[in-house]
Amino acid sequence: MVRYIEKTAFEQRYQSTEKRFSANLGFFASLTRSSVIKNSPNGNLDALVRLAPVAPACQDFYMATTHEKFRSFISVLPAILLIAGFGCTVTPIPAAPSPMHSARQEPPGTDASPDIRPEARQRKTIRTVYLTFDADMTPAMKRRLEEKKVSFWYDQGLVDYLRKENVPATIFTTGMFAELYPVLVKDLAEDGRFSIQNHSYDHAGFESPCYGLNELSTDDQRRTEITKTQAILKALTGYAPTLFRFPGLCKNAHDDAIVTSLGLQVNDGNLVSGDAFSHDAARIAMHVIDTAVDGSVVVMHLGGPNATATPRAVMLIVPALRAKGFVFEKLP
Ligand SMILES: [Zn+2]
Repeated sequence: MVRYIEKTAFEQRYQSTEKRFSANLGFFASLTRSSVIKNSPNGNLDALVRLAPVAPACQDFYMATTHEKFRSFISVLPAILLIAGFGCTVTPIPAAPSPMHSARQEPPGTDASPDIRPEARQRKTIRTVYLTFDADMTPAMKRRLEEKKVSFWYDQGLVDYLRKENVPATIFTTGMFAELYPVLVKDLAEDGRFSIQNHSYDHAGFESPCYGLNELSTDDQRRTEITKTQAILKALTGYAPTLFRFPGLCKNAHDDAIVTSLGLQVNDGNLVSGDAFSHDAARIAMHVIDTAVDGSVVVMHLGGPNATATPRAVMLIVPALRAKGFVFEKLP
């Protein structure tokens, strides 16, 4: 409950600022939609990739400014940039709530500012996307780390970005990853925005072949992959995961039954980003941005040498989906 209240308070603050900012820019956003994107040689992809980093930068600048007159100036800065050819607000911006709607919802005696109370949010159609990040670790990956052929199997910049932008997310971690990075996993678990879940012990394939992963041949081995990680994560974070994701998403109905018999729920996501071994952040981002719907569970990785483009992709996905009206949540 406490976590819910904290999160809601944050969202109210974020959405309040965002709405004021968006209201100032609505006119210019419609201009960019009609001209910049349509005239872009590669359509949305080109425009988004070129301009998406600019919009959050403007927004950050705006949100960091407290002086009211300066805020007013900054609120029109994107328009100036747009006219100058930068197109600061090219990503679609949700319409500000109409004054009539706000006035009708407010109790008598209050002003007609946008209604951002939790119950008001529930009355509106809220579209939710769940970003999930797998923290893989195989014996071969561990060896490369120990031999210092790899410095990190995750990207600290990605974690920092999620925190800075207050993006709730779910981390499916292998037990072996948690053993190698206990401080990180504990730290994430203690941050109410993140949920830590089970992704097997050493990322072996429950079904084979599975992208060259080690194979599990007995049900005992399969159960151990799950229970060993449950114990590691419980000891580290203080609570046992409730969700399990299969390595490589390789499984059958029998494997599902093993997971549920151990009291966990299978979660394999429903929007595979394709970030593993990809170096194309724009391609990953556009796939997620174009196909995300309410309830999408996006499968990604926590960065590192096997997912080098993921941090940049996430930095495109977050502002673009927020601009489309989505909110981010961790899996319940
Ligand atoms: Zn994985």
